[in-house]
Amino acid sequence: MGGLVVVVGSANADLVVPVDRRPGPGETVLGGDTRVLPGGKGANTAVAAARLGAPVRFVGAVGSDQFGDLVLASLTGAGVDVTGVRRAERPTGVAYIAVTPDGENSIIVSPGANADVRPEDVRLDGAAALVASLEVPVPVVEHAVLAAERAGVRAVVNLSPVAILSERVLAVLDPLVVNEHEAAGLGNLLALGVRSAVVTRGALGADVVTAEGTTTVPAPKVEVVDTTGAGDAFTGALAVALANGDQLVDAVRSAVKVAALSVTLPGAQPSYPTQERMNRSANSRP
Ligand code: ATP
Repeated sequence: MGGLVVVVGSANADLVVPVDRRPGPGETVLGGDTRVLPGGKGANTAVAAARLGAPVRFVGAVGSDQFGDLVLASLTGAGVDVTGVRRAERPTGVAYIAVTPDGENSIIVSPGANADVRPEDVRLDGAAALVASLEVPVPVVEHAVLAAERAGVRAVVNLSPVAILSERVLAVLDPLVVNEHEAAGLGNLLALGVRSAVVTRGALGADVVTAEGTTTVPAPKVEVVDTTGAGDAFTGALAVALANGDQLVDAVRSAVKVAALSVTLPGAQPSYPTQERMNRSANSRP
């Protein structure tokens, strides 16, 4: 068994409804049947890491409602330790996702309980890597990163959605993970003061940026079915490899393989591969 990965982040119910077109102001459109799926960047990342066989602890908050039960069932089903998850007074976070026939998503996120995650919820005992994302309050993420530094725990932050972190916190990140759209708005990533950065680039793979230069790790070519949650699969797999002591470029090589398999199945969490599926896929390649 590898090193413990602690994931700090959001847990949502995703309500996905197909529509022919988006409603205009004051307009109602009829949609297809609603699918209710466990989601949220934090929970997705935790499930992705646990599927690979890593011990994972999730730090987050859900409401005392059926969506909270759904999210927790998915996490525990993957083997994630949810003993630190707060049951908040507020409802579980919900993402309302309207999908048009061109595959474009329009999303409203109601953070709900995610806004109630607190710094004191973060427990890093026994951790080898921390991975945090920004759908929970910035002070929680900043507290977690600084606690990781004090404890000698590798700190990874997926800066999604983009938020302003203090220079003191940025200086600990190894790496900062962003997709290419987020990266475009941030300029020179090393100038932010981070130790390293990883830029995910969809079907092109990912760039590893360090003081030594930029290394591009290409993504395997796959038949794409649904890219939802690919970024979270990537971050979860990256954290697992780093918690096991891999060098950053090697960890990114593992992460692109895991994320590539995740886009070959529908949905986010249901698409995340187990270590066994990873091994089978590696053996079936010529
Ligand atoms: P999402 O918002 O869909 O979760 P993202 O925008 O955060 O994703 P991407 O850069 O699109 O992040 O994808 C993350 C990683 O997933 C990529 O670095 C790559 O490894 C893998 N990936 C995404 N799309 C593809 C694809 N079409 N083929 C192979 N791998 C892919």
